[in-house]
Amino acid sequence: MSEDILLGGPVSFLRTELGFSVPERLLAYQAWWEAEGFSLSLAIDRGGTPHLQQYDAQGQRIDKVLYPPSYEYLLNEGYRAGVVYEVAERHNWLFSMLLGFITSYYDPGLACPYTVSLATWIPTYKYYHGPRREEFLTVLARRDPPFGQGATWMTEIGGGSDLGTHVHTLAYRCNGKEWRLEGEKYFASNVGADLAVVAARPQGAPPGPRGLALFLVPRLSHGNPPQLNYFVRRLKPKIGTRSVPTGEIELRHAEAYLIGEAEQGIYYLMELLNFSRVANALGVVAHGLHALAQAYRFAQGRRLFGRSLAEQPLFRHELAQHYQRLRWAAGLAWLSARGFEGVWLERAPYSADYALFRLITHLAKFWTAKVALAAAQWSVEIWGGLGVLSEFPIERFVRELMVTDIWEGTRHRHLLDGWEVLQRYPLIEKLESLWDLSAVDASLLPDLKHALRQPEEVVLPHLESLLTRLAQAIGQSAARPPALGMWAHGSSSSSSSTSGGSNS
Ligand SMILES: Cc1cc2nc3c(=O)[nH]c(=O)nc-3n(C[C@H](O)[C@H](O)[C@H](O)COP(=O)(O)OP(=O)(O)OC[C@H]3O[C@@H](n4cnc5c(N)ncnc54)[C@H](O)[C@@H]3O)c2cc1C
Repeated sequence: MSEDILLGGPVSFLRTELGFSVPERLLAYQAWWEAEGFSLSLAIDRGGTPHLQQYDAQGQRIDKVLYPPSYEYLLNEGYRAGVVYEVAERHNWLFSMLLGFITSYYDPGLACPYTVSLATWIPTYKYYHGPRREEFLTVLARRDPPFGQGATWMTEIGGGSDLGTHVHTLAYRCNGKEWRLEGEKYFASNVGADLAVVAARPQGAPPGPRGLALFLVPRLSHGNPPQLNYFVRRLKPKIGTRSVPTGEIELRHAEAYLIGEAEQGIYYLMELLNFSRVANALGVVAHGLHALAQAYRFAQGRRLFGRSLAEQPLFRHELAQHYQRLRWAAGLAWLSARGFEGVWLERAPYSADYALFRLITHLAKFWTAKVALAAAQWSVEIWGGLGVLSEFPIERFVRELMVTDIWEGTRHRHLLDGWEVLQRYPLIEKLESLWDLSAVDASLLPDLKHALRQPEEVVLPHLESLLTRLAQAIGQSAARPPALGMWAHGSSSSSSSTSGGSNS
């Protein structure tokens, strides 16, 4: 591990460890975070839950989220740099993901609005061909403020892991034509967004996940004058990710636009969630690296037993171990990101590449979150008693990473879903042929094959250790220098377009 890379920020890591040619524009973006962005982000975190102004002075319902003015400045910087329009105009996913990595290094909560805006753009672009399509796409892809924002609202009070059972929001036709929604969403991030993708069950649809359809719900209804089309019941007081407002939503006869075919809703839903999971995996690795950098800087200035803590062998060993695991986690996260670029335009029924992408993404979501959270906890420990004082910046890393561990699906969900992919698709041979996993963990593939022959009751209790080994082995193999060179510069068309025109 090189201290220079660790202290050089996210761009240094992306360039040196992963071999990316990071555009100059993103170097300037990192410099802005160092000069201004991070201190604003700390102030917003300390400010706690933003306020919700529900009514204006005339008593009209406005449901406006009130942040300090610096929030808009902070948020706009990423939109201005192109996090959404680079995708909307040129399908330049790599640029957007690199930008998300840098944002999350400093503030993973702030990366959420970018992620959900992109996750709104995906099904709108791919599947929605109804009224206002051009308007919706244009709003999301604005190059100048006010930037349009998206959101993805599925979870209701009963639970997010089992959407098939717990989504009760009802979709029905008004006058036999336009769709309306009635229901509540319990966790709604980026609340206040101009356009949300909402999961609902059309009247008469079957129970379970296959009865879910996806709808676009604009903040303001069509018509003159436009009316508020969804209501914010309250904002959530959260331990972390305070740079994105999360609220509870009420949909009351809300104007809605059906995305694609109602019966295919579950596929669209999984597609957009898979993107958010990729973004989450990249983001937590970046934030974990920042925690380690903060630990190292602290250790440099801490003198214990006559010398700097940063020079002590036990400290150095532990730092190197966390760094190494984050490097592997980065390998896995970027593998899932590059996989996404290759399959994002696919539609059901999907290819074998899509199944592999799904497996990698489930592994990446749970394992990167775990590795990054462990790195952050260690970093707090390195700050000793100072680490748990909220006047210092280090404890925040744990708070942020506790949230990112849960949203976009919890560890259990991804273990179970990853296992389901392995059971359904013959991927073991493919894994063997793509990465030399036996060189990393000789008994891994035999153990996986053996487990696949066992009944669920026998396998499930051991799933975490088995899939952790798989995640680590793939990440380790992907992060190995020769493989890394090929993979970081990729052979896909999207990667070459990114290192080209978008860089200036
Ligand atoms: C800050 C924040 C913002 C969010 N924003 C959004 C948003 O914008 N849109 C949205 O749709 N959702 C959002 N969510 C919801 C999030 O996706 C859910 O919290 C998550 O999916 C888990 O659902 P749950 O909290 O209801 O837990 P549950 O689904 O009730 O799960 C409870 C526990 O059971 C475990 N579990 C589940 N199944 C099993 C099993 N088979 N075996 C063993 N254990 C199991 C889970 O891992 C978890 O530990 C947000 C959540 C948070 C915290």
